Amino acid sequence: MKLLEYQGKQLFRDAGIPIPKGAYLPSLDTFDTIKDRLSYPAVVKAQVLIGGRGKAGGIQFADNDAEAKAQAKKIIGMDIKGHEVKSVYIEEKLDIDRELYVSCLIDRTTRKTLMLFSAEGGIEIESVPEDKIAKVYIDPLTGFSQFHARQALAVLPDGYSKDERKQLAKMLGQLYDAFRSFDCELLEINPLAITKDGQVIAADSKAIINDAAKFRQKKFEEEASEYTELEKEANAQGIAFIQLDGTIGVIANGAGLTMATLDALNEYGGNAGVFLDLGGTDDPDQVARAMRLMKKAKPSLILVNLFGGITKCDTVAKGIREVFEKEGLDCPVVTRIKGTNEKEAKEILKDAGFITTNTLQDAAKKCSELEKQQIKEVA
Ligand code: GDP
Ligand code: MN
Repeated sequence: MKLLEYQGKQLFRDAGIPIPKGAYLPSLDTFDTIKDRLSYPAVVKAQVLIGGRGKAGGIQFADNDAEAKAQAKKIIGMDIKGHEVKSVYIEEKLDIDRELYVSCLIDRTTRKTLMLFSAEGGIEIESVPEDKIAKVYIDPLTGFSQFHARQALAVLPDGYSKDERKQLAKMLGQLYDAFRSFDCELLEINPLAITKDGQVIAADSKAIINDAAKFRQKKFEEEASEYTELEKEANAQGIAFIQLDGTIGVIANGAGLTMATLDALNEYGGNAGVFLDLGGTDDPDQVARAMRLMKKAKPSLILVNLFGGITKCDTVAKGIREVFEKEGLDCPVVTRIKGTNEKEAKEILKDAGFITTNTLQDAAKKCSELEKQQIKEVA
């Protein structure tokens, strides 16, 4: 779950990390209700789940209420790299002297928290030279110590006062603690600003909370715009369903098999448009719900790849056939089915007029051929 900047800053505030004074404006018509929380000069910032807002015009300055409202009006409704701006965050404008960078993320190789720190912030970390970035690994069992802070601050060039270094060290510790206690996958401050009067403060936030910890992190409401309407519908029904750019619908069971199916399809040049993970179910109702979602996604053809262990292939096959008949789905279906009651399942699928194959490779190849044919027919 990605947080908007203002939510990330609430998280910072809870962790004791200094942030500018600000107020969230969910819509233009509520401007009057936040007026007395604003101070000028102010920055009006687009709230979208994508970076690079500055360059896109999503960050503007204002000197009074009228200007702030006018800037908000300009920004709300803007499209930033495919994300529609629905709200803004208005905060006091900082007198920024230097822009630094810090983030915490999970390093799967070392199974530790990785803290990245650089004196060259305000730009994407990917464009900062590697030797200008400190990489500090923190063992979650022992936590953050002062030596981690010293290791990070070692990349600072001359010119940082003792007090600035002290504030920075404190903030790094707070960031690490917040990263852990809010179950984050990523927590980033960019820019980490140092103001002209030597105050260290978080000017931006980027936070991703692990979805598996949502039950513990109820404080933050999910910004739904990350999902399509269909994805939201699927989410509500507990079905893993993701829309992509292509036109082929992929149905598999289990996250691993679903991924492998997408990879195979990709290998043969097929373009998945939606994928649906049935999970470990052969419950006909759940299969039916999943198929109804698939229908709404309007795939040009469907690839079904199932492995039956505890779930029985024939039950799932029956479920799929039934929904096809009932719902009037009429695109070509390529199937590959393996495991418990495989034979029966294949019969059912063949009877239903579906194409059956023996291996995932065959199925993926067939799909990609059919797709090319369909594209030709349209053209
Ligand atoms: P992003 O472009 O989406 O990452 O948005 P940021 O919040 O990081 O802002 C981008 C840039 O706008 C920053 O690097 C700053 O240079 C500038 N900026 C943002 N807030 C302030 C502010 O309060 N004062 C000043 N002077 N510049 C700001
Ligand atoms: Mn930023």
